[in-house]
Amino acid sequence: MNRSSGIFGSAARASLAAFLVPCLLLSQPAGADAQDRVPVITVEELADDLWVIRDGLGSGNVLLYDVVGGAYLVDAGSPESAAAIIATVDSLASNPVRTVISTHYHEDHLGANAWYAVRGARVMGHELLAAEAMRDTTIEEMRWERHRANPASLPTVQVTGPSLIKSGQPDGGTVAAIQKLPPAHSRTDIAVLIPAANVLHAGDLIEVGAYPFIDWWAGGSLRGMIEEVDHILSWAQGDQRIVPGHGPVIGAAELADYLEMLVTIRDRAEAAIRRGDSEEEFLDSHPTREFDAGRGGEASGRRFASLVWYGLSRGD
Ligand SMILES: [Zn+2]
Repeated sequence: MNRSSGIFGSAARASLAAFLVPCLLLSQPAGADAQDRVPVITVEELADDLWVIRDGLGSGNVLLYDVVGGAYLVDAGSPESAAAIIATVDSLASNPVRTVISTHYHEDHLGANAWYAVRGARVMGHELLAAEAMRDTTIEEMRWERHRANPASLPTVQVTGPSLIKSGQPDGGTVAAIQKLPPAHSRTDIAVLIPAANVLHAGDLIEVGAYPFIDWWAGGSLRGMIEEVDHILSWAQGDQRIVPGHGPVIGAAELADYLEMLVTIRDRAEAAIRRGDSEEEFLDSHPTREFDAGRGGEASGRRFASLVWYGLSRGD
């Protein structure tokens, strides 16, 4: 077993670093300066008064729900596209945004919260979100520098357990149901259901069109991801639609495929660890082979396998 050329070997380190940077700092076209990145906003209408907004730069999916008395956002996107997304929100919603719910602490989901907070919105998030977002963590082995969040983006309302947001209107029911999740993508995850439309925003617990990220460095857990996806799948029946952290909206069938991918790769990694394989032997066995299509191809699969190995080989 050759651990010296494992995850801390230079090739694997560069590979994983390349995977981390797009996840946390957003992808950037080769040779492009930050100022060259221009948001290209797209809007998908899911139901009356309910839209998914994307910025074309890799920010998390922004869910806008326009409700009399105050609109809701689930995730706000990154600072670099905040102006374009706010303009879109203002053009779609009849009511000002009064509540922003953050699915987790990553900047591409909550970095724009401050723009709404200064306009009077409350920000809701997992009770551990602020602590995680304010950690200044550099992981040198990964060449990953994780910056502190803008304090103005942090939750003003802590989510400590399941909670329902009720409409303030006389004939209104439940506007949103918030579920605090066990550690999965990170230890700051929540999911938000809009019951009237049967739409769930799952944050980065689910990614579509790419492999997901497991933030081992912020309490993330592949086991937790599998358990929570399985949990969602157990009641995601009929016409329920699921908004992933990134990528297109899916239904139960696509979620079942996603779960199978997670479980299969997890099982292959655990088997390799039990055999005493090195990371290279595991990666060279191409453990993601049947799942790479539609998720960035073989190179992306290898990076995800390396990420899985990183956590599981350490007993996480
Ligand atoms: Zn994330």
